[in-house]
Amino acid sequence: MGSNILYIEDNPDNMVLVKRALEARGYTLVQAMNGLDGVTAAETQEIDLILLDINLPDIDGYEVARRIRSSAKRSLAYTPIIAVTANALKGDAEKALSAGCDVYMSKPINIRELWARVEAFVPSPQKS
Ligand code: MN
Repeated sequence: MGSNILYIEDNPDNMVLVKRALEARGYTLVQAMNGLDGVTAAETQEIDLILLDINLPDIDGYEVARRIRSSAKRSLAYTPIIAVTANALKGDAEKALSAGCDVYMSKPINIRELWARVEAFVPSPQKS
């Protein structure tokens, strides 16, 4: 198994935070700044896990998850998807799970929680 993680996120601050945190553990981060680019990246690159923001500028994270799960690239039916939700108390989490995400975590992003949730699916290549 590889260690390529796709992060679909339009907020540059979150992108930088997650990139630093995951690269510190030896993962490689693939970045997509909107939903459609994220679906394309998942379909054209070798991706081992997807971190998915819900509030995106084009299609929302639920739609991204549904498109990934129904992709012609069969491995995407099983690639782990972690939703990153801003409104966990407003039903985002439940909607994310029914759209095909495996788990969710809420913003603001906690780095230790991020490491733990990612490592539950993809072992860290190199713990720092
Ligand atoms: Mn967003």
